[in-house]
Amino acid sequence: MLYLFNTLSKTKELFVPINASQVKMYVCGPTVYDYIHIGNARPVVVFDTLYRVLKYLYKDVVYVRNITDVDDKIINRSRENNELPAVLTQKTIKSFHEDIAKINAIAPTFEPKATNYIAKMIAMIESLISHGYAYVARGHVYFDVKSYPDYGQLSGISMEEILHGARIEVSDLKKNSEDFVLWKPAAVEDNCGWDSPFGYGRPGWHMECSAMSVDLLGENFDIHGGGKDLIFPHHENEIAQSVCYFHRDADENRHQHNNVANYWVHNDFVVVDGQKMSKSLGNFTTLNAALKKHHGEVVRLSLLKTHYRSPLDFSQKSLQESTETLDKFYDFLNSSQHIAEKPSKPNAEFLSALCDDLNTHLAISILYKMLNEAKSNPSVEAKSQLLASANMLGLLYENPQDWFTLKTSKLKITENEIEQLLEKRSIAKQNKDFKESDRIRDYLGSLDIIIEDSPTKTTWRIK
Ligand SMILES: [Zn+2]
Repeated sequence: MLYLFNTLSKTKELFVPINASQVKMYVCGPTVYDYIHIGNARPVVVFDTLYRVLKYLYKDVVYVRNITDVDDKIINRSRENNELPAVLTQKTIKSFHEDIAKINAIAPTFEPKATNYIAKMIAMIESLISHGYAYVARGHVYFDVKSYPDYGQLSGISMEEILHGARIEVSDLKKNSEDFVLWKPAAVEDNCGWDSPFGYGRPGWHMECSAMSVDLLGENFDIHGGGKDLIFPHHENEIAQSVCYFHRDADENRHQHNNVANYWVHNDFVVVDGQKMSKSLGNFTTLNAALKKHHGEVVRLSLLKTHYRSPLDFSQKSLQESTETLDKFYDFLNSSQHIAEKPSKPNAEFLSALCDDLNTHLAISILYKMLNEAKSNPSVEAKSQLLASANMLGLLYENPQDWFTLKTSKLKITENEIEQLLEKRSIAKQNKDFKESDRIRDYLGSLDIIIEDSPTKTTWRIK
């Protein structure tokens, strides 16, 4: 029995799939203009873990995680880089795949790219216009929020709040200021536009997810996931578009589904010193940079130690603790005489923690308990159950004999050694021994460590 917290009802509910023989889940994927930061790696790990649990519980699970490869950020970045948007997105997708493979994220069943669904988006927009849910204004198409009385049901946001919020794009083309864009004109020279009945242009972000989820999963599916910053406006708008698209027949009997997905699941933010990690605040670490320094399982464990609905502090201390935790598990696996054959089933207590709204925090403490029991009473069964349980969290996939070399080979220098060298360099600078201070800087540079001096302090980061 799986329980999930549903943002729609704001309660933890028993998960009952529409069709127990095929569970369907859609999760919003990355906008591919740059490396993802740790805040965006969190939903990848959280929903990968949920996918693993669902796969264990149900025979067939269809997991869709899209790729947003048309967006303002992509166009702006490709202008800066002086490269075609398609070139930028292709290389970003490649590094995204490489990085998330290192944190043991299983490939979803489908990974649709928005650019492959433009025709579907145009068809949906045309239908919304012809049924009075959307309107054209000088090459733009807007969704008329007033045409959908249930608008705001997911986020609980009121029109008042929307109008006073800062997240509304101001435009005198809109009928109502809360309306949002489904299609907008594009500049030909940006190489990111398509011909449409409303003019040459490109879709709005929200429209992309509606088209992909409708096409691959249908009118009503089981789970829709993403980070909690997507609740409003992204998911709210997605519901409005998709529901109204299916109401096109104006048949009262068709109004039975007004939620797109029955369970809307959202993870909380990754925070740094209490502030949300984000590119706009500049307080972010990319997954790619974290993986240069730490093994993927260390990063993954750090993202799972906190329950997904709580803010997660991604700190050096937490990474260090995760390394020590994994060392203990691999040390046991390495020293254990008992070679497990095929992994058995996960431990029942462990599984019930995961089935209680994906309580990974509790599941990890049960994993510790299992380790201690297996140490004091070693058996093939104890070891294979430990492995099967850890695998459900996407952990302990390395060969235990390799673990200790793998995890240290990330950087050719320890953090302690870096700090000691920085101390030496600071003394050299005080003594005006610039030759020595430059030598230390260059040496660290040769090990991919970049030093940044400010008037008050010196910090370092990985290249
Ligand atoms: Zn989305």
